[in-house]
Amino acid sequence: MLVPQEIIRHKRDGKILTNQEINFFIQGITDNSISESQIAAFAMAIYFQDMNMDERVALASAMRNSGEVLDWSSLNLNGPIVDKHSTGGVGDVTSLMLGPMVAACGGYVPMISGRGLGHTGGTLDKLDAIPGYQTTVTNQHFRDVVKTTGVAIIGQSANLAPADKRFYATRDITATVESIPLITASILSKKLAAGLDALVMDVKAGSGAFMPTYEQSQQLANSIVAVANGAGCKTSALITNMDQVLASSAGNAVEVREAVQFLTGEYVNPRLHEVTMSLCAEMLVSANLAENTQQAHIKLQAVLDNGKAAELFGKMVSGLGGPTDFVENYDDHLVKSAIIRPIYSTQSGYVSAIDAREVGMSVVNMGGGRRVATDGIDFAVGLSELISIGDKIDAQTPIAMVHAQTEQQFMETQKNVLNAIQCEDKKVAVEPQVYEVIRANSV
Ligand code: URA
Repeated sequence: MLVPQEIIRHKRDGKILTNQEINFFIQGITDNSISESQIAAFAMAIYFQDMNMDERVALASAMRNSGEVLDWSSLNLNGPIVDKHSTGGVGDVTSLMLGPMVAACGGYVPMISGRGLGHTGGTLDKLDAIPGYQTTVTNQHFRDVVKTTGVAIIGQSANLAPADKRFYATRDITATVESIPLITASILSKKLAAGLDALVMDVKAGSGAFMPTYEQSQQLANSIVAVANGAGCKTSALITNMDQVLASSAGNAVEVREAVQFLTGEYVNPRLHEVTMSLCAEMLVSANLAENTQQAHIKLQAVLDNGKAAELFGKMVSGLGGPTDFVENYDDHLVKSAIIRPIYSTQSGYVSAIDAREVGMSVVNMGGGRRVATDGIDFAVGLSELISIGDKIDAQTPIAMVHAQTEQQFMETQKNVLNAIQCEDKKVAVEPQVYEVIRANSV
């Protein structure tokens, strides 16, 4: 007979858990027969003793199976089901363009996204800035939009990987979030439950990344690729640069504005273009929608240039309750803050570093993100027209536009953003946006 405390003891003592033990424990988390203190002890034992890849596959699979696993077969879709997930960044609005771009190239993207965490923004919060857009819809509505548009981005329903919800809530208050096997299983339980044919992970590295060092980002990427493939979902990972804000803006309405401008070609930040194109290309190749990365790039640029991706974004927005003319008239629909004013540099030289975490926190501090899960969000606040690493600046250069509601918010944000920027006299080398690609055969 299996007993929770014996399973915890096994892991505490460094033993390898069996599939039965892992399934039993996750079942107990799901049906509440295992207590919060037992979950905490289990998490701490894993934190210290780690898990091998077989255990991680068993854990992710058990957590996936704790709730509904989506099945798209009855829709008879004429293309693969493919998705992307990011470990979170600042100004990372890629999902809003990537979903429609991949859909325009023949993929189906049923994206189940999350809210902002800490200093990072969340795709759902950004979409909530679009008046009328519903991120909580019935399963049937979600399926209809995926079928007719090729892409739908919504929030997680309660019956998708419910074990993760309870497990994560306990980890969050017991200093056990930072465990690679637990992060791997937590992320993948939700993604595997979406019934995907292929998944691409965007694991961020740098000053605004969730993982504190490049080596840990690499370990997480390797773990996710090995475990997801082990659980039967073709998965690869890109390690991408989060050493500065990815887009030119950070905040909710301002990032949605930039996403539409990207899709229509009105304004395209080159970093955002490189990361979005690289992730999309990996998705197309993984899902057999392109023969190689080069061909994928050509297809993707074509759907940007011919307006197909922008059209599908507009169709997704209206299909999920937003305005029917959002792409054409986004500025009429997005809220604006009371103050929109530039800040000027106090240094001169070449921008050599930007603390992306600090910039992200300055947006959270204005109310653009949450300090606790129950906080409301002010969609209008944020930053736009942010300078980049390598730019030459002096006291006449606006380094960002602050979107604030009060003078006090403006002053604080000005101070925080100026503090986040470092300058040097010499021109600095600009780092690549994609550091490496990890595929199943390279793990
Ligand atoms: N995001 C998740 O979904 N789970 C984790 O454990 C960490 C980040």
